[in-house]
Formats: sequence, C-alpha cells, structure tokens
Amino acid sequence: MQSQYDVVVAGGGTAGVVAAVQAGRAGARTLLIEKNGILGGTITVGGINAPAHFFAWGRPVIAGIGWELFRRTRELCGEPIPTPEFTLNNDKPGHLTLDKAVYAAVCDEAVLAAGVDLVFHAMSAAAVFEEGAWTLTVCTKTGLRKIRTRTLIDATGDANVVSLAGFPLVHSPVVQPATLSLYGSGYDVQQLDFPALNAAAEAAVAAGELKSTDLSWRNTGPESFLKSHGVNANHIRAPGADTSEGRTAVEVESRRAMLRVYRFFKKQPGLEKYRIDWFCTEAGIRETVTIQGKETVTVQAYESGFFFDSALCYAYYNIDEHLNDGKGINYRRLGLNVLPTIPRGALLPAGSRFLLVAGRCVASDREANAALRVECPCMAMGQAAGALAALSARMGLDPEELPLEPVRALLRQHGAIVPERLTGA
Ligand SMILES: Cc1cc2nc3c(=O)[nH]c(=O)nc-3n(C[C@H](O)[C@H](O)[C@H](O)COP(=O)(O)OP(=O)(O)OC[C@H]3O[C@@H](n4cnc5c(N)ncnc54)[C@H](O)[C@@H]3O)c2cc1C
Repeated sequence: MQSQYDVVVAGGGTAGVVAAVQAGRAGARTLLIEKNGILGGTITVGGINAPAHFFAWGRPVIAGIGWELFRRTRELCGEPIPTPEFTLNNDKPGHLTLDKAVYAAVCDEAVLAAGVDLVFHAMSAAAVFEEGAWTLTVCTKTGLRKIRTRTLIDATGDANVVSLAGFPLVHSPVVQPATLSLYGSGYDVQQLDFPALNAAAEAAVAAGELKSTDLSWRNTGPESFLKSHGVNANHIRAPGADTSEGRTAVEVESRRAMLRVYRFFKKQPGLEKYRIDWFCTEAGIRETVTIQGKETVTVQAYESGFFFDSALCYAYYNIDEHLNDGKGINYRRLGLNVLPTIPRGALLPAGSRFLLVAGRCVASDREANAALRVECPCMAMGQAAGALAALSARMGLDPEELPLEPVRALLRQHGAIVPERLTGA
C-alpha cells in the first residue's frame, strides 16, 4: 500500500470491485481496501450469487464491467451465457446465478489486472478532507496507516466512510430483515411429511424453541426452507447493522436461529441425519442506511422511469421490501417498459467534495431502495462512481462539476450502457 493515490475505494463488494476496476482501467492510481479476506461482498460472503438484472424488456440494460465479471465466471464454469429474451414483458424474469468461489477469484484477477492495489483485512477508520484531498486512515492488522487521495469512493454498503467524514445519513426506524444463507442436506424432500413437520414447527414456536422467521419469510413452516435447503430462506431482525455493534448482534442472532433450526430438525422423522454442508460466514444485510444525496431517487421517480438529466446508469428491479416478523414482502412490479435511471447526484453526499458512494446506500427513499439495492444496479453504480472518481482526480474537478459527456464516453468505452432519453416519434 502506497501513501498517495488518485482514487481510494473502501469496500470490495458488489459495487466496490467494479468501481476499483473502472478507476484502475481509466489510468487512476487506485487502492481498494476490504475488511474481509475475499472480494464480492454480499455476492460471495453473503451467499447471494444471483445478480438481478442485466436485461429488461427484452434488451440489455446493465453491461460493462459487472457483466464482464459475470460472463467470465459463467464461461469458466462452462455455463451458458444468458440472452435478454426471457425478460420480455417482465413476466417474473428468472434470476441468473454464478459460482461464488469462481466469482471471487475472477474479481481478484480483474482488480489486479487493472493495476489496482488491493489490501484485505483493512477497514476505514477516519476520513478528513483537507487542502483539496482526502486523508483516509486505514486500520490494518499491523496498525493505522494514513493515505492521501484526491477522490474517495465509499462502497461499504453502509456509508461508513461518509459517516466518518461527518456527513449525515438517513436512518429509518425500521429496516428490512437480514438472512443467513446455508445449505442443509441428509434428507429426501419426497419422503418428508410436511403437514406433520408444520404441526411440530408450530408447537416448537409456541414453546419458544423456534421463531417462525427461523424457517420462513411468511410463517409458512419448514417446507420452503427444506426445499431450498436453507438458501435465502430465513429472516433475522437487523437494526443498526451499519455499526460493528449492530452487526455483531445480527451475526449472533443469525447463528442462534441456525442452531434452533438444527436442533429442531434433528428431532423430526426423516431429518435425523440433517446436516449443514455450508453456511455463510456473514448474514446478508438488505438495508442499513442511505446517504443524504445531492439528488435522491424517490419511489415516484423510480416507478415512473423518470429520466434524470444527469443519469449515468439504469436500475431495473421490482420493489422488493422484505418485512419483519413473518409478514412476507411488499412486492410491486414495475409497469410495462418502465426503466428507472440513477442520477449522478444520488452518488454524491450533500455538502461533500471529491466523495462518492456506490451500492445499496445511495440516496434513495426506502421503497426505491428496496428495488435499486439489487446486484446489477450496484455494479452499474460502481462503474459510474469509478469513472467519475478517475476523471475527477485527472481533471482536478469535483465529481459534481465534471462535464457529463466525458464521463459518459468513458463509461461507454468500458462497455457500460448509459441511459438515453427516448424521444417521441
Ligand atoms: C438475503 C439477501 C438476498 C438478496 N437477494 C438478491 C438477489 O437475489 N439478487 C440480487 O441482485 N440482489 C439481491 N440482494 C441484494 C444485493 O445482494 C445487495 O444489496 C448488494 O449486493 C449490495 O451491494 P453493495 O456493494 O452495496 O454491498 P456489499 O456487496 O455488501 O459490499 C460491501 C463491501 O464492503 C466491505 N466493508 C463494509 N464495511 C467496510 C469498512 N468499514 N471498511 C472496509 N470494507 C468494508 C464489506 O466486507 C463488503 O465486501 C439480496 C440481499 C440480501 C441480503
């Protein structure tokens, strides 16, 4: 790790990897710090390897570096490369999947090939803007390091750097639940007596041995959990997970829930040999905070497909707000041919200079966030942030002051799809 960079990206998850690759490929001296020992964030450590959606309404809407990493992973795995046709009419477009392990290694390769300095086991500890550049204090295993950088990208998912820099965040009194994904086996779904299992689960919930959300999102008993083998199947309350303390509470409660389920299953006929083959080492967090941005994506803008003048990428997904306490999901489909856009200002904390965010904590209200938080928009926002940061450092202009044309041209040069205003006939 050097002491001077053009661009530093904090957080090597869904958005941060793409941001760092874009900045590096644009010629910026770039550092990527990541608190874990693996890239990919929620895709790898959270076990959510189902990026939604590169395609909408029968055409590609998000491409560029995120698509390249996805495509490379599928090619290495010998899996077919999907085409956009299946998204016509938004008839519940299927989720595409990728191999988590191969994706993590592909991300390492892409980041290093872009000339990015990569440091794992490193967290942001302080961020101060002074004399036209940022001093970022990084907490490494061997002590604190001070790094100078012209431009700083917060891709922590939790706006941790924005908070350290003293800019206000939007905290909602209620946040979506988290999920601890795992894969259980040792049983034959066809041989299970689900009415009996449901009755046993109800009794266990009444006795306080289980919570209904340990097994399902909608108080529906163990059937969906067992059929999915525990992948993305439970709900855990997750207040304050942008802090180490809040996050610790979620991790502990996630594993308590896993243990409750394990104990319960082992006592049920047909599940005596139940075992957990793998589990995610972190709970997947759906929502913590958002920034107060220079622009905000509201649900009205999102659902109407409002074209922001400074739009840098599309975001396509239905409203998908998970509810606490077994109440399921607030789910609303986008209208026919609606294609929401994300403006530059949603990546810029209000009042900040040379600071960007990318990923699920961009400026958006709760319902819009419940849609644009998914992986492909996070990748697209990462690429937009990487391009803005690289040009901002090169031209010595704040990202808000940059003329949009060179930013859009750089994004297109690296394969991204930049929204275009549709003109009437
Ligand atoms: C259970 C669940 C199911 C989901 N299902 C889907 C789905 O099917 N399809 C889909 O497309 N999306 C899905 N999503 C949403 C999507 O996965 C996430 O919203 C998205 O991946 C978030 O990307 P991000 O880059 O903002 O954060 P992340 O991918 O979480 O990356 C943040 C990174 O920053 C690192 N970090 C955090 N704090 C610091 C710090 N202070 N210093 C340094 N590094 C730090 C983290 O370790 C992590 O690597 C799901 C989410 C969850 C939780």
